[in-house]
Parts: sequence; structure tokens; C-alpha cells
Amino acid sequence: MNASLGLLSGIEQTTAETIQAQSGITAAGDIHIYSYLIRGEGRTILIDSGMGAINHIGGELPGNLLALGVARESIDTVLLTHGHPDHIGGLLDSAGQPAYVNAQLYLHPAEAAFWLDDQQLKATNERTQRNALLVRRTLDAYRPSLHLIEQADINANIRAISLPGHTPGHTGYLIHSGDERLLIWGDIVHYPHIQLARPEVSISFDHDPVLAETTRKTIVEQVVRDHTKVAGMHFGKSAAFGHIECDATTGYLLRA
Ligand SMILES: [Zn+2]
Ligand SMILES: [Zn+2]
Repeated sequence: MNASLGLLSGIEQTTAETIQAQSGITAAGDIHIYSYLIRGEGRTILIDSGMGAINHIGGELPGNLLALGVARESIDTVLLTHGHPDHIGGLLDSAGQPAYVNAQLYLHPAEAAFWLDDQQLKATNERTQRNALLVRRTLDAYRPSLHLIEQADINANIRAISLPGHTPGHTGYLIHSGDERLLIWGDIVHYPHIQLARPEVSISFDHDPVLAETTRKTIVEQVVRDHTKVAGMHFGKSAAFGHIECDATTGYLLRA
């Protein structure tokens, strides 16, 4: 996705550019969009659905799933991190019908409440109000299979973790597999190198930048302490997963 480092606050643009360059990133402002597929115990679960080619951005997920031998009809569950278009845009097909016809859809109750509340939306910007129309259309289309989740287990091995700030009901998913733990943390960072080195840096998409910063700092400290592997919807092209380490001079960094 074509974006700009100018969306960041709490950092000089030249500093942000330097961090990107030192990390080997050539298109400094670009944001990559990931969805994650979980298979096991007879389940096929998708976490977020990408942009779905809205405004000609993205739309590669169906082809990527097919390349893995995964038919869209075989997805039984979609877990959403939040309601932004680059996460829910792929849920409807071009006719406005569910793209994942056999999927149960899970969303945090605070997230649903925010996007469905006219009063709360009135206080937000035009982009957020426009995004709300897509959320409403999508939730309507999935109404019979929509579930609101609290901070709780989706099943024995997947736990929803509340990570508010980027949006009111922003949610991560902690997955246990054998001795391993993976946290898929949604939009905790948009520019991983910059926002791990400088966790105080927010992006203009953050609904509550102060809360987003607190949540980011807390969860980063936690995954470092617990050695939990992390994945993020806007991790760079070179690493969709990694461990975060703390470097005395550069701050936190992601190791693939
Ligand atoms: Zn977002
Ligand atoms: Zn996003």
C-alpha cells in the first residue's frame, strides 16, 4: 500500500527515513498488508482479510490462498483484529456478498459498538465515517454468522487479547502450538522498524494515539519478556513473523 512517513507523529521525518534506510527498506513510506492463515485440528482459520482490491489496493489474498490449496469455501472462521478497510475489505466479493460463505466471523464487542454508533462516529474524521459504511455493510452481510468476542479463548489454543488504542476494540490473537507461542497483533505497528525502535511514534490512523502508545509499549515489553513470537498485519515484506529483541543502542528490533 502506498503510504507516507508523513503520517507518523512523534518523530522527525528525516529520522524515520534514516531508520528505514538502515533497515534496508528502499520504498520508505510503503506499508505491506498481511493476513494470516491457521490450520490444524480440522480447522481453517483466517485472521483478517486484507484490502480486497478496494481502490485497486491489494486483492492478492484469494490467489495466495489458492496457491496454498485453500479454497475460500474451506475457511470455517475469520478472526478480525479490527474494522479498518485493509483488514475487512476482502470479506465481501465484488457483488457485496460474503467472500467466505462458510466462515463464522469474530469481532471484539467494543469494535462493533464503535463502528455502529452514530454518536461516537460524529466526533471522528471523514475517513473514519467513510470506513464505517464498509464495516456496516460487511457486518450486515455476515449477520447470521457474526460473533462478538470478549478477551477469552476462541478455542483451547487461540486466545483473543484486547489491545485497544489503534481502534477501540483492536484485538490480537495468541496462538499456542506445542511449546510455541505466536501473537498476531494486528496494527500495533505500521512501520515495524521505526515503531519498535521508537514505540512512542504514532500514526494518523490511530483512533486514540495515547492509548495506542501505552498498549504498544506494554505488549512489546511482554513479548520480549515471554519470548513470544509475533506477527503483524503491517510487518515488512522480508519478515511476516519474528522475535523482538532489545538492543541497547537502537531499541527494540524484529528478528525474522
Ligand atoms: Zn488499522
Ligand atoms: Zn492496518
